[in-house]
Amino acid sequence: MGLVTISGLVTIIFFPEPLFANKLEHGQFNVYSNEKIDKDIKVILDNALNLIKDSELYDTKYTYDIFLSHNSFFNRIDDKFLGHGPSARTTDNNITIKVEVDIKNNLFLPTFYQKCEGNLTYLIAHEMVHCLQDYKYGKLKFNPFRHPELWKLEGYPEYVSRRAKFLNSGYNLAYEIDRYIDLETKSSDIWIAIDEGGCKAPKYYYKSRLMTEYLMDIKGFSYDKILLDTSSENDIYDEMIKWKNSLKQ
Ligand SMILES: [Zn+2]
Repeated sequence: MGLVTISGLVTIIFFPEPLFANKLEHGQFNVYSNEKIDKDIKVILDNALNLIKDSELYDTKYTYDIFLSHNSFFNRIDDKFLGHGPSARTTDNNITIKVEVDIKNNLFLPTFYQKCEGNLTYLIAHEMVHCLQDYKYGKLKFNPFRHPELWKLEGYPEYVSRRAKFLNSGYNLAYEIDRYIDLETKSSDIWIAIDEGGCKAPKYYYKSRLMTEYLMDIKGFSYDKILLDTSSENDIYDEMIKWKNSLKQ
């Protein structure tokens, strides 16, 4: 009986498609929802795909299944067995967006830490990179129980999904590092706002992205090389701070 329940649960987690009433197909994406799916999501999906196209993990043949699962039976199961909190989660090629979305305005609406509005394109791009980590390096290396250090797991999806921002002419990594240090010093808990006016996230997301950005854009590392590198998180952070300080001399 226990076995049947567990296999049923595994089936639901890996293949939740039958639990959703509506499906929209678009290029490398299938989107599932119990509510009518706003066709404007196609533009968001195209933009998310564009953000990850330069990533070394990008694969033209990979298909992403996106589940808009707010208020669904699937969400209740997911909350119960995998925990409540994150706005989205990936399992295999499934991207589950657990919170409410506003497709017309390109927003996702978390309520866990505080009510806020986040950029849906960034969220989807971030989760797509998690799918590709699993696809390229395998489930034995990337799963909820076993994965590279947190900064290596989350830094790269953050880096890739915010890539367009870095290419803006006014963007400056040294300024961002100063901004992180300032927010981190002032914050009384682990939650800080990565983007001006944006949702707060645990601070290691921001820190990890900056470290990834430093290694890739300043030192020319690939993501492969970051994963293989044995330097400690503290050593890389300290090196990045030294680099930043050296610019001001
Ligand atoms: Zn993530």
